[in-house]
Amino acid sequence: MDSLLTRNSLRLAAKAAGISPSATTTRTKRSVGYPPKFWPNATTLLIAFIDELEQQHKEKIVEAINQWQPYVNLRFEFVDGREGHPGYLKGDIRILTNFSQNYSVFGTDAKQNDPWDATMVLGIKPSDPKFVSTVLHEFGHALGAEHEHQHPEADIPWDLPKVYEYYTAKGHSKDVIDESVLRRVSADAVLMLPYDRHSIMHYPVDNALTIGDWAVGDNLTLSDKDKEFMRRAYPRE
Ligand SMILES: [Zn+2]
Repeated sequence: MDSLLTRNSLRLAAKAAGISPSATTTRTKRSVGYPPKFWPNATTLLIAFIDELEQQHKEKIVEAINQWQPYVNLRFEFVDGREGHPGYLKGDIRILTNFSQNYSVFGTDAKQNDPWDATMVLGIKPSDPKFVSTVLHEFGHALGAEHEHQHPEADIPWDLPKVYEYYTAKGHSKDVIDESVLRRVSADAVLMLPYDRHSIMHYPVDNALTIGDWAVGDNLTLSDKDKEFMRRAYPRE
């Protein structure tokens, strides 16, 4: 599972990768119901790769991110954000790959990170069958999309003890489980379209974690709702 509790996580990831000089700041981002944090419409988003990765790996990430492009009125420009390269400290979104997990900062919250810190971690490798869907999901957060399973109308019949047991076994704290799985997004704080269990922003939900017969499989592609959400978030005049 990914996480929106990202500020510290990202710093730790960057530190582990040896590229962050800022391990001391303690400011953290905790919000109750994220307001929309969309990027200014009709602008260019500079997307920087801040660590070393193979060209083919980079191309696969670019290809996946570009799947969002037709649905937003934004231009995506990819740059080399490593130290000593023109894109250093310049990326609006700064991608770190040399880590085991996947996270993203929510929309323009990325501006709160120091310019040398990652705003997105994509630890998943192109050989993983969920590579494309994971990049799509994380970049959805970067564009300001919330978790669909936390939609105000997502009436998931969670079997709470099993949910905690399942995610705790995967190494997640109760806080993270509450924040990234269970908490409902406030209905008045978001751009709202009807709940969609096929959204790329929805976690898979195993039947064992719900009461009764209720499950969601792996959503691997952008749903119609995902596309419509971005069209409304970044409309073409
Ligand atoms: Zn997520």
